[in-house]
Amino acid sequence: MSRDTAWEQRWRGALAERQAQGLYRRPRLLERRDGVHARLEGRDCLVFCSNDYLGLADHPVISAALAQAASEVGTGSGAAHLISGHHREHEALEAELADWLGRPRALLFSTGYMANMGVINALAEPGDTVYEDVLNHASLLDGGWLSRGRMQRYAHGDVAALDAALAQTSGRALIATDAVFSMDGDLAPLPALAELAARREALLVVDDAHGFGVLGNGPGSVAHFGLTPDQVPVYIGTLGKALGTFGAFVAGSETLIDYLIQRARTYIYTTAPPPALAAATRAALGLARQDTWRREHLVDLVARFRDGARRLGLPLMASDTPIQPLWVGDAARAMALGAALLEAGYWVTPIRPPTVPPGTARLRITLTAAHTPAQVEGLLGALARCLDAPAGAPG
Ligand SMILES: *Cc1c(COP(=O)(O)O)cnc(C)c1O
Repeated sequence: MSRDTAWEQRWRGALAERQAQGLYRRPRLLERRDGVHARLEGRDCLVFCSNDYLGLADHPVISAALAQAASEVGTGSGAAHLISGHHREHEALEAELADWLGRPRALLFSTGYMANMGVINALAEPGDTVYEDVLNHASLLDGGWLSRGRMQRYAHGDVAALDAALAQTSGRALIATDAVFSMDGDLAPLPALAELAARREALLVVDDAHGFGVLGNGPGSVAHFGLTPDQVPVYIGTLGKALGTFGAFVAGSETLIDYLIQRARTYIYTTAPPPALAAATRAALGLARQDTWRREHLVDLVARFRDGARRLGLPLMASDTPIQPLWVGDAARAMALGAALLEAGYWVTPIRPPTVPPGTARLRITLTAAHTPAQVEGLLGALARCLDAPAGAPG
């Protein structure tokens, strides 16, 4: 028994409030996973809520690379990159990432969260302003808030409002944006942002967590829009989504990377990721580059899902990426729909505030190259049945 302190009472109160608002969350226990098939708390289901866009998270070639490397170099890096933890596997992965992106250099971070925090923190100095899209990922927002620069958010995708704000700005400005918005699936207006950044001499920082490996035939959103590295000087990608492993990187000029090595605290003051993980990611990168069929199949599934959803009158949101949320609005109804879908054998996590703004709960459906057309048709049928049922009624 733990002692009932004033702290415990505060936490209990906050938990009860969350519960009353239908916003209480807990991790669901995944007992087994094989591709898109999972066993979730005793129930077999199809997963439609992972970010494993290319279906690489349990690829045997990548698992074998991890096991082989672990047998050679062990599990831990033993230290931070700048102490004694920087292994040749890290160095090789950084070089291969830079090569695919057509940029001079890349720098590994332990997670995307740490990359975003570290980069914004390192680049924004006192007197600078950090401009961020209101729907940016929490890690970009936290980076801005924790930086010594002034943080200012602009309305979602509103380049005109941003232009007006920049016109009033003294000192230097950074513009940081998700390339693919993680809970909506829509794309940032990168060409317009790049034009604006160039005109106003602002630095454009793009977080392509959901585009890297997927869009632009692989290299991501910057390639998708036909922009050059100079137009998007700071490019951040993650390795735990399309690449199916774990970690993140920043890619850019020699000077940028050299500067980040000196200044990014989430790079400097943390243990380097396991070198075997870097070896696994090199194998994943090879597959992601080579297997163009994965992206082609994924594009087909997205089109199939949207066609079907339109036919059924489902509340689609404006997205052409594998993130295909269905609008619900009310958090409690989103929870009921999630439960009904699971009952039908489809795992789709409802997304509620504070992850999304109040009153905008949704079912965040994600498609991956590991899904089949028949599975997508099955999901559509289940969605139609569940969404037709009155709110709160069992599916
Ligand atoms: C997932 C995500 C991150 C964080 O990446 P991790 O490697 O999971 O920490 C950063 N930005 C966006 C937009 C994301 O969706």
